[in-house]
Amino acid sequence: MPTEARVCAYSAVMMGSPILLKLFDHDETLARQVFQLIKQQENLLTVNRSPSEIMNINQAAGQHAVVVSQPVFELIQIACQVSQLPDSCFNLAIGPLVKRWKIGFQGDHVPPAAELQARLALTDPRDIELDAAARSVFLRKAGMEIDLGAIAKGYIADCVQAFLRQQQVGSALINLGGNVQTVGAPPDEPQGWAIGLKTPFAGLDALIGVINVVNKSVVTSGVYERYFKVDGHYYHHILDPKTGYPLDNELLSVTIISDRSIDGDIYTTLLYGMGVEQGMRYLAAHPDIEAIFVTRDKQVICSSQRQFCFTLLDDSYHQPETMQPTH
Ligand code: ADP
Ligand code: MG
Repeated sequence: MPTEARVCAYSAVMMGSPILLKLFDHDETLARQVFQLIKQQENLLTVNRSPSEIMNINQAAGQHAVVVSQPVFELIQIACQVSQLPDSCFNLAIGPLVKRWKIGFQGDHVPPAAELQARLALTDPRDIELDAAARSVFLRKAGMEIDLGAIAKGYIADCVQAFLRQQQVGSALINLGGNVQTVGAPPDEPQGWAIGLKTPFAGLDALIGVINVVNKSVVTSGVYERYFKVDGHYYHHILDPKTGYPLDNELLSVTIISDRSIDGDIYTTLLYGMGVEQGMRYLAAHPDIEAIFVTRDKQVICSSQRQFCFTLLDDSYHQPETMQPTH
C-alpha cells in the first residue's frame, strides 16, 4: 500500500533572515548539509563582518586588487554587467550609501543631503576593475564598497537547489528570507507549491494571495521588508542609485517568478526601478521572466501567468483586467 508523503520542515536563522527547508520524509543529515552550504556561501559574500571575500575587496578599495574564488568572481561579474545596463536601478557599488542609511539596522536616520551627494561619487560601477585571468577585483577609489545584499540570497538559493538535485531529491523547497526556490512539486499536488504573497504592512500571516509554481523560484522585494518612518514618510531599503534616496514610485512590492533565483533577485530590483508600465512592456518581451506588482493604490498586476498561477485572497486588493501584456 502506498504511504503518504510527509512534509518535514527544518528552520534556522542565517544571514539575518529566517530560513526554511521543506523536504518530504525526514532526512536530518541532508538538512544539515543544506544549512552548512548556506553558511559557507554566506561567509564568502557577507558585507556585515570580516573576513569575507567581499569585505577583503572593500577593505582594499583605492589600494590594490584582491583575488577571489571563481564563484564569487562570476557573481561580481554578473552584478557588474547588470549595474551597467542603461537606466539600471541595480548597482552593486551602492555600498557606501547602504552603510550610511543603515536601513533595517540600529541607528537608521535620514542622512544630510550633502553627505549622500558625496557618497554617490563613490558608487560608479565603472570604477570596478575586473581581471578575469587573475580572478581579481579592484575598486579604484578609496571608500568604495561592493554590496551583494540584493542578489546573495538568490545565488545561494540556486546553490541549494543544485545541491538537492544532485542528491536526487525530487521535491523540496528552500525559503531564504523571502527568496523561495523549489525542486519539482509536492507529491500528489500537481498544481505545485503554494507560496504566500504577503500583504504589505500587515501582520506576518496576512496574505494578499497565493502563487502556485512547479520547479520555479519566487522572489519578492517589498518596501515593507525593511524600513523606518520619519514624519509620516517611509524610508525603505532599496535605494535609487541616481539620487541616493530610497526608490520612490507607485510600487509596494515586486515578485519575480523565474527558473533561477538570482534572476529573481536581479529583476525585482530592475523592475522596481522601472515601475508598472515600463516593467510590463519589458516582461512582454522577456517571457522567461514573470512578475507580480503590488501598487500603493491596492492593485495586483500579474504578467502572463504561463509559469505560475496567482489566486487573490484579500478582497481589498484588485486585479485590473486591462494590464495584461500583449504577446
Ligand atoms: P531583501 O530580500 O533583503 O528584502 P533585496 O533583495 O530587495 O532585499 O535587496 C535589498 C538590499 O540590496 C539592501 O539591503 C542593500 O544591501 C542592497 N541594495 C539596496 N539598493 C540597491 C540597489 N539599487 N542595487 C543593488 N543593491 C541594492
Ligand atoms: Mg533581491
